[in-house]
Amino acid sequence: MMAQYLALKAEAEDCLLFYRMGDFFELFFDDARTAAQVLDIALTSRGEHQGVPIPMCGVPVHSAEGYLARLIKAGCRVAIAEQVETPEEAKKRGGSKALVARDIVRFVTAGTLTEEALLEPRRANVLAALCEVRGTIGLAACDISTGRMELEECSADRMGAALARLGASEVVVPEGWSDAPLEAIVRPSRDFGSDGGEARLKAAHGVATLDGFGTFSRAMLAAAGGLIGYLEHVGRGKLPLLLPPVAREGQAHLAMDEATRASLEILVSSQGTRRGSLIEAVDRCVTGAGARLLAEDLSAPLTDVTAIEARLALVQWLHDNALLRGDLRTVLRALPDVGRALGRVVAGRGSPRDLGQLRDGLGEARRIHDHLRGQADRPALLDALLPHLTGHGALTDLFSRALVPAPPTERGQGGFIAEGYDHALDELRRISGDARRAIAALEAKYRDQTGIAALKIRHNGVLGYFVEVPARHADALMAPDSGFTHRQTMAGAVRFNALALHEEASRIAEAGGHALAAEEAHFEELVGHAIKARHAIAATAEALARLDVACGQAERAAEGGWCRPQVVEDSRLEIEGGRHPVVETALAAKGERFVANDCRLSPQDRLWLVGGPNMGGKSTFLRQNALIVLLAQAGGFVPAARATVGLTDRLFSRVGASDNLARGRSTFMVEMVETAAILAQASERSFVILDEVGRGTSTYDGLALAWAVVEAVHGVNKCRCLFATHYHELSRLAESCDALSLHHVRAREWQGDLVLLHELAEGPADRSYGLAVAKLAGVPAPVVARASAVLQRLEKGRAETGGLAAGLGDLPLFAAAIEHKEEVVDTLRERLNALDVDALSPRDALDLLYELKREAGKLP
Ligand code: ADP
Repeated sequence: MMAQYLALKAEAEDCLLFYRMGDFFELFFDDARTAAQVLDIALTSRGEHQGVPIPMCGVPVHSAEGYLARLIKAGCRVAIAEQVETPEEAKKRGGSKALVARDIVRFVTAGTLTEEALLEPRRANVLAALCEVRGTIGLAACDISTGRMELEECSADRMGAALARLGASEVVVPEGWSDAPLEAIVRPSRDFGSDGGEARLKAAHGVATLDGFGTFSRAMLAAAGGLIGYLEHVGRGKLPLLLPPVAREGQAHLAMDEATRASLEILVSSQGTRRGSLIEAVDRCVTGAGARLLAEDLSAPLTDVTAIEARLALVQWLHDNALLRGDLRTVLRALPDVGRALGRVVAGRGSPRDLGQLRDGLGEARRIHDHLRGQADRPALLDALLPHLTGHGALTDLFSRALVPAPPTERGQGGFIAEGYDHALDELRRISGDARRAIAALEAKYRDQTGIAALKIRHNGVLGYFVEVPARHADALMAPDSGFTHRQTMAGAVRFNALALHEEASRIAEAGGHALAAEEAHFEELVGHAIKARHAIAATAEALARLDVACGQAERAAEGGWCRPQVVEDSRLEIEGGRHPVVETALAAKGERFVANDCRLSPQDRLWLVGGPNMGGKSTFLRQNALIVLLAQAGGFVPAARATVGLTDRLFSRVGASDNLARGRSTFMVEMVETAAILAQASERSFVILDEVGRGTSTYDGLALAWAVVEAVHGVNKCRCLFATHYHELSRLAESCDALSLHHVRAREWQGDLVLLHELAEGPADRSYGLAVAKLAGVPAPVVARASAVLQRLEKGRAETGGLAAGLGDLPLFAAAIEHKEEVVDTLRERLNALDVDALSPRDALDLLYELKREAGKLP
């Protein structure tokens, strides 16, 4: 057995091997240690291998799904080795000692799940493949629970942002790629060829050319090859549901890198939960598919005004039609998850219940279609969705006739094909029903005949049907001419067989067996119909999800008094009465009111320095404006009284290191790496929020860096930017940077206490209120008093020396400093470039070297 186990384990590579033995999946060696720890189950041992006991643990087959879910969550992958023949077959093949043949039938990995129990209903489950083709990154991603697949290519520096957007639960890469993301699963590089990828895509969709799906680059095709190769590997050759690939354009989405997504807490909060995230505050979808699509919208806001406007118009229409919206949401709420039911059916893991869900979902979609088609003034996006909601008449008719109203999840027991669909099946059922009735009649007859009132006809898996009487009555039936034959003697009862009973039982067994086979054949046929219509069904599922998202956005807007943003093609950001959806919700729960604030950025006034006390609301203000941009470009209403959003190509959000340090996550180094990324990437179309950048180091370093970063963002990147800081000294930048203005969050000291107004006002902050905040936080009074004395001394010193920023008055302007440096370097470079080295004598060369060195010495 060990030899068989080890061979399978070699095939399973780094996956845990679930080795089927009877009613258990057993794990051995290190697999057993890992699983025992993750699952908190007993680690035992069995036999010996090379003189050492073999560690082992096991999980019952019937509850394996729950254990699998926990292993996957913990980051494990599992290979399932099943028995592929019965013990009888094994004996026939290899004699009484033969080992039952086993084979890996499937790999279960985080990115390749379809089981309802293992998936989160409101989250897509993405598998991504990534590779590099001549400097360009190819990306292929799919959610096999619904079949959606997209291909993308990007430059190496955008790889992080693209991956962050996808939020894949599993990533595969070719072996030997040094820049591959950590924790990716390494696959043979031959899978990642563009020709092979093209061939695999064509084969998966049964087409001779991919032209009908779009244009795909070499990098995209190579990544697709890796993705499909991996799917074939984990499915042991069987492919799951794959819809035609969609080419995603790199520029079609608002780019956000991982740090920005984390800091804006889009899909998960800083605690790693959905609670406290943007999506939790926005999501009013009533279906899992809607929630998944909303997550995608928020992860990849658009950059095309027409497409954004189309979504907004639909939200507006539903916003204004409250009654219709209410009806629609009620209907949608009752819908099954059509996309995922289809995914299971195509993957060969579908149940009769899944077919029932397709029937119900598609039928309901048609009713929604009929209802919406009768509405006036339909927006264009709705008209585009409507055709996808219908067209399944033949399929739903067939499924309605074929299936019982609520089909079971188990197909092995039958009972899901409706009566009247197949007369032969009805007949088989009638026969077995008749036989059951005949058996009931036999029981009465035998009681009469023997005079034993306690006589029963019973059934079990070993004996089949039998007659049972209490032991004290057994003698009468033991008589040779009684018509009964003895089967088994139990403690208090004796069991018999009877000829008539045997005959009826055989009829039941035979008819039942035939009925099961007939149902199984019908099931396969119905599955075949669903598979044939898979693209259209998936389109219906997607259209339903889009409707749900729009309804949810409209509902949220109505609930919170949100407005429809105006999205324009220039670099403005004008927000009146803006609010932070998450903070507002949190405050409302405590009965507190959120103070709305305005933001008004334009090319002439594009950088706002925001000062004011800690806890005054600076971070909240920065983030709410970034979130409003994101929500607007995702095609939804925004938490503001009025908003004009200039189309943004990239969004950046950075928080100074010390905030993160408290969570033990980041360091000053990370802060600087992230800041460098902004300075390298932000364009005039970008929007950047920087929160206390420079705070993670000493005061002088921090101020100096903050100063230089603001100057660079203002003078080089020229993007819209909100910069929160507690360095007063930065106010002086207003003198040299003409598109920069000063703002602060207001605070008042009232009767010795600090009152934070959370209200944004123009001008620099008057003072820092640090001690007042300390008092508010409960620092003991003597400590605050002592700090106050120290502060007075410091301020006196500052008055005398001019303070931290003394001496900055004559600092050359940022742009001038750069130009100056480049100019000098260039004269040297020019002379060197002009030089014909071969024409120089050694003596001349030496002279020239002296001369160049003298010139270089002139550098400042
Ligand atoms: P800062 O960045 O200035 O230290 P925060 O933005 O973190 O301040 O805000 C601190 C707290 O103040 C928030 O957690 C919130 O409870 C409250 N707050 C912030 N902005 C507002 C606002 N506009 N209206 C009401 N409360 C606010």
